[in-house]
Amino acid sequence: MASEAIIDLAAFARNVRHLRSIVSPSELMVVLKANAYGHGVVETGQAAVGAGSRWLGVLDIDSALRLRAAGIDPSVRIMAWQYLPGQRFEDAVQAHIDLGVSTIAELDAIAAAAVLRPARIHLKIDTGLMRNGATADDWPGLVEAAREYQAQQRVSIVGIWTHLAEASEDDDTVAVQRFVQAVDVAGRLGVTFEVRHLAASSAGFRREDVRFDMVRMGGHTWGIPSFDGTSAQEMGLEPVMTLRSEITAVRDGVAEVPLGYADGIPGRAAGVLDVAIRGRRRRIRSVGIDSMLIEDCADVVVGDDVTLFGTGAAGEQTVREWGDLTHTLGDEIVTRISTRVVRRYVSDASAT
Ligand SMILES: *Cc1c(COP(=O)(O)O)cnc(C)c1O
Repeated sequence: MASEAIIDLAAFARNVRHLRSIVSPSELMVVLKANAYGHGVVETGQAAVGAGSRWLGVLDIDSALRLRAAGIDPSVRIMAWQYLPGQRFEDAVQAHIDLGVSTIAELDAIAAAAVLRPARIHLKIDTGLMRNGATADDWPGLVEAAREYQAQQRVSIVGIWTHLAEASEDDDTVAVQRFVQAVDVAGRLGVTFEVRHLAASSAGFRREDVRFDMVRMGGHTWGIPSFDGTSAQEMGLEPVMTLRSEITAVRDGVAEVPLGYADGIPGRAAGVLDVAIRGRRRRIRSVGIDSMLIEDCADVVVGDDVTLFGTGAAGEQTVREWGDLTHTLGDEIVTRISTRVVRRYVSDASAT
C-alpha cells in the first residue's frame, strides 16, 4: 500500500476515556461529524462505545442511521442536528435518533414523523453565535409548542443545548448566562430538561462552569489540541491519525511522494511543512494534484517510508504543527484527507 492514513483506535479510545474523566461527572458526547473528521464514522463510533461513551453526535441523519445499522443499539444515544430542506424524519425516529430542534417548522416535521413513538428532541437556543437555534424572542413559542407535542406523546423533550463560540472567555460567559435564562424561561412554562449541553472541546476542557450535564467534543478526541502553545501530550492526549506513504522516485536529491492536493494535502504546505524520511525531517518543495516533491533527499531511495504527520514517533510533525504552520486548524487538515487515501485501522500504535 503506497499511501495510507493509519487510524489508531486504541489511542482514540484512550483519548475518549481521558476526556470522559476530565469532564466527569458531566457526560461526554463524542462528535463524529464529517465522517469523524476524516477518521471514519463507523469504526470510530464503535471504538467510542467500546471506551464507554454513551453519547455520539453527528451532523446528519444519514450518518446517525449508519451508526445504528453498524449495530450501535439505542442504549447509546446518537444525536443529529443538521437537516436538508424538506428533511424527512421517519427513519430517524424509528432508529431512536435524538434530534436537535431550532425552529417550530422542524418541530412540526419531527412530530408528524413520530407515529410509533415520541421523537427524542433537544431544543436549541441561540446564545450569541447566530448560526442557528431559537432567538430569545422565539424561545417561549418553541418551548410551548414542544410542550404541546409532548402532551400528545409526539415528542419527548430530552435536552436543551446551544453552541459556544469559544472565541473569548467573556463571550462564553455571556452565552452561559443566556443559556441559564432560557432554562429558567422553559421552567416557568413547565418544561424541564434531562440534559443541558453547550460546550465543545476548548471550553469544555478548561472550564468546569460550562460543562452542565454534557460536553460535546470532536477535535480533542482525535488528539488535536485546540489551545495555542499546548501539545496533545501536555493535555494527556495522543494524535489518532498518521499519514504515511512511500517514495516513488528520487532524482538530484529531490524525492517524489504520491500524495497531492487531490488527496487533501494543503497547497500551502510547499516550502512550509516537513515530512519525515529515515527519521529526519525534510521540507516539502511543491505540491501537485497527485504528488509532491521533497527536498534534501540525497540519501533517500525509492520505496523508503515517508511519514507526513502523526504522533512524532518517526520524527514527523503532528497535525497540530501542520495546522499551525499553514494557518488553519489541525481539525481541517485531517478532515480534508480525501477518501482516495485508504484508512487502515490499528489497535496498537506499535503495529504502525
Ligand atoms: C463540531 C461540533 C462540536 C465539536 O467541536 P470541537 O471543537 O471539534 O470539539 C460540538 N458541538 C457542535 C454543535 C458541533 O457542531
